[in-house]
Parts: sequence; C-alpha cells; structure tokens
Amino acid sequence: MKKDIHPEYHIAKVTCACGNIFEVGSTSKAIRVEICSACHPFYTGKQKLIDTAGRVERFKKKYRHHYKSATEDKPAAPEAS
Ligand SMILES: [Zn+2]
Repeated sequence: MKKDIHPEYHIAKVTCACGNIFEVGSTSKAIRVEICSACHPFYTGKQKLIDTAGRVERFKKKYRHHYKSATEDKPAAPEAS
C-alpha cells in the first residue's frame, strides 16, 4: 500500500433504528442506519410497509377503478390477422 494516501480504517459500530447493533469495517467510526438485515422485510420474510403518509392507500384508492376493470371486464383481445 502506498503511504499517506489511504483513509483510516476502523471497525465501525453500526446502529440500526430497530435496535440492532453490529460491526463492519469502515472509514467512519460509527454509522446509523434506518434498516438492517435484522429488520428488512427481504431478510425477515415479513411484510412491513413503511408508509407513514398513507401513500400506498391513496394510490390504491385512486386506481381502484383501473384495477377493477382490468381484472373483471377485460376488453376482448384483438384478433390476430
Ligand atoms: Zn434493523
């Protein structure tokens, strides 16, 4: 390694919003994260929507008609010529 060009390498303590704490190698000493492998739905397998503003609900409500018509009365498929 070349001298004096590399940043300091620390074992950083990562603190997640869920309370989980783990260590990683990093150039900073402490990292705060909002989501980690202990609480992310991908790893837990649990569905947990982080939707504080109700955006998902609003979207579903807004496009309810669209989904309904798309599933119930599909337009006839164009005939192949
Ligand atoms: Zn977490």
